Amino acid sequence: MTEASRIARTKVAGVDVSTAHWIDGRRVPSNRTFEVFSPIDGSHLANVSAGGAEEANAAVAAARRAFPAWAALGPQGRLPILKRFAEGIVARKDEIAAVETLDNGSLLSRNREGAIPRAAHNIDFFAEWAAKRQHATIDSPTVTNHVRYDPSGVAVLITPWNGPFMLTTWKVGPALAAGNTVVVKPPEWAPLTCSLMADIAHEAGVPAGVLNVVQGIGEEAGAALVNHEEIDRISFTGSTDTARIIGQAAARTITPVSFELGGKSPFVVFGDADLDAAARTIAGQYNNAGQVCLAGTRILVEQSIAEDLLGRVRKQVDAGKVGDPREGGTKVGPLIHPEAFARVTGFVERALADGAKPLWGGKRHDFGDLYFQPTLLTDVRQDMEVVQREVFGPVLTWQTFADEEELIEMANGTRYGLAAMLFTGSEKRAWRIADRLVAGSLWVNCFFVRDLAAPFGGSRNSGIGREGGDWSMDFYCDIKNVSVLKKSLA
Ligand code: NAD
Repeated sequence: MTEASRIARTKVAGVDVSTAHWIDGRRVPSNRTFEVFSPIDGSHLANVSAGGAEEANAAVAAARRAFPAWAALGPQGRLPILKRFAEGIVARKDEIAAVETLDNGSLLSRNREGAIPRAAHNIDFFAEWAAKRQHATIDSPTVTNHVRYDPSGVAVLITPWNGPFMLTTWKVGPALAAGNTVVVKPPEWAPLTCSLMADIAHEAGVPAGVLNVVQGIGEEAGAALVNHEEIDRISFTGSTDTARIIGQAAARTITPVSFELGGKSPFVVFGDADLDAAARTIAGQYNNAGQVCLAGTRILVEQSIAEDLLGRVRKQVDAGKVGDPREGGTKVGPLIHPEAFARVTGFVERALADGAKPLWGGKRHDFGDLYFQPTLLTDVRQDMEVVQREVFGPVLTWQTFADEEELIEMANGTRYGLAAMLFTGSEKRAWRIADRLVAGSLWVNCFFVRDLAAPFGGSRNSGIGREGGDWSMDFYCDIKNVSVLKKSLA
């Protein structure tokens, strides 16, 4: 037994997790590994195989070999397998949630009740969607145009650490349902639940080579995959900076990309809104320690109600516990990594040096090394770094506006365009503002709720393309038009 295969399994939160890759239906360890620590308390969780070009080549080759048979099953043939896959996730929901929380510090209750059930739904929903999808026909005088949705081939799926299991299923679901085979590259700061996903898929009957997992560092394993000549799609969720690098690789091979990237979303409150609901939802932006791409981090408030709203938000924030994300009642857990902690601290220190003032927070929380106080900064200018760039921590800014013109200028005044939240009681105003905001998703008097059939994605530097319903299916398909001369076929 080699050293690599001896360490290829470990117990995390009492759950047996393989630390090896999953390639062509079997576990493949690497001699090189990387260490994984829990952000909750810094404890060592695992040594995970660090893949590179060799593992990427093997996984893409396996996916390519498996593609014809998986594609030939058709949506109806894939449906029962994918439904079993979804059921397997539901059956192991508590285990997946426990490992995810230990691995990335996200709230256990939310993983159990929200993210992991939603992950199962992602698989189930797209399997059903593909099975029900009709091939369109477009009639013209001489020919009938038959629109076919052919699976595209091998899709490389790359996800970030802030919700790796759920975000990966959001790609795996439509990619497999459409008939593609996939290579998943989990995030190196939280790689463990994607390993469980491979076990669950295998137990459900997903054939060897259809779903592969290559573990490793982004610049090595990820780069080897996105630069591979034999891939057909790249779906990436992560930072805008990494997308620029992946975009260059994709440009070389003309591989279609789907990019779900960072944000700096405005959270807008008008005086005619339900201020308690707005305050509750603003306090909720600190959940997951603000490590949520969609978080409304720029609070934009109508001047006349600013003081009133601030008091209500403060009450909500004071009631939210910072602490161990495994404990019920905790609202704000740790930042993911010492590098993330240094990054968040740097943003806040530079903002304060540039004239911003903390209404609360601003430094490390006493609970532990990676815990940062929920922070609200005022006296910020639109051109300041903390207003323009994604912090990805529990740091919000507070700005006021006098009228709708000023609001639109501030709300649209960054290079991002992922999401926006709007709290108002006026329907006319809601649509007036909705028409002018640059955002892939706009929530009016709510946050986060969305049907999987609806489009999701970002404008400007927040992404390319949309996921959800037909938008996902179209991305993972080669759309072919077959024009048949009328009355020419017997
Ligand atoms: P990141 O860009 O550093 O890493 C994301 C993934 O890319 C990781 O798996 C990493 O290993 C891989 N990677 C890194 N370099 C690579 C390379 N050269 N080639 C191929 N792969 C590479 O992002 P992160 O820090 O893990 O995640 C946080 C970011 O993700 C934030 O910007 C956040 O807003 C964004 N995000 C966006 C959404 C969305 O739906 N829009 C959802 C969640 C997170």
